[in-house]
Amino acid sequence: MKKVNHFDTVNILGIPFIHTTMDDFIKKIEARLHNQEKTFIVTANPEIVMRANEDAPFKNVLQRATYITADGIGIVKAAKQLGQPLPERVAGYDTMLRLLQIANDEKKRVYFFGAKEPTLKKMIKNIEETYPNLIIVGSHHGYYNPKDNRVIQEIQATEPDFVFVALGFPRQEKWIDANMPKCQKGIFMGVGGSFDVISGEVKRAPKVWRNLHLEWLYRLFSQPSRWRRMLAIPKFMMAVRKSKNIVSQDNEKGLGA
Ligand code: UDP
Repeated sequence: MKKVNHFDTVNILGIPFIHTTMDDFIKKIEARLHNQEKTFIVTANPEIVMRANEDAPFKNVLQRATYITADGIGIVKAAKQLGQPLPERVAGYDTMLRLLQIANDEKKRVYFFGAKEPTLKKMIKNIEETYPNLIIVGSHHGYYNPKDNRVIQEIQATEPDFVFVALGFPRQEKWIDANMPKCQKGIFMGVGGSFDVISGEVKRAPKVWRNLHLEWLYRLFSQPSRWRRMLAIPKFMMAVRKSKNIVSQDNEKGLGA
């Protein structure tokens, strides 16, 4: 297994997922925060892996990330199928809440970029109530001209410890990849629809559904427009099976060493 920034990785269709529990991952991020090491976190699901395999620049962006974690049971299942099981899911939403808690405990500086203006405002209100000690240094909605440098200039000026970017993939990862190098420090993370959930506008699946690994089904019922995106999951499982066969054939031919 190849190591990436301290963790072993499991390669799933060319994407290196770190082999970690949530707790170990959070500990590592805390250490990087204290050392002021810039960090780019991607939490990837099957849709992201499939997209990366159709979009070479996006795949390159992912390969430059500091960490890619397994967001979604599909990734955990794929790793198992490849004979290299991952300990557990490290989902984007849960990771974001853990990082907000650290920011609150340590009175750290946070910037929020993305989502619609009213969603962002509602989310900030909820965060101010739940995490009163973290310092919100700035925020900007996500419907902006990509050539506009205002957001990055604000981040450079306010020097946040955490930057959460909710523009949906691949936009958020591409933005972080292009802009993090312009900053001195910060833990940068793409968080997809998490602002919508924290704002209260989109409900997360109840715990029973999540425990049954049926969060995807709940999302499909509550946001039927997502059905097309769900098609990525069976395609992903098929591609993983195929990649496993290719690896085992190569091993039989002695090419795998
Ligand atoms: N979004 C945005 N700017 C855009 C497109 C989307 O800020 O140009 C936001 C959108 O409002 C939502 C988040 O990005 O808050 C994407 O959510 P989605 O559930 O689509 O994320 P994904 O699961 O695709 O990463």
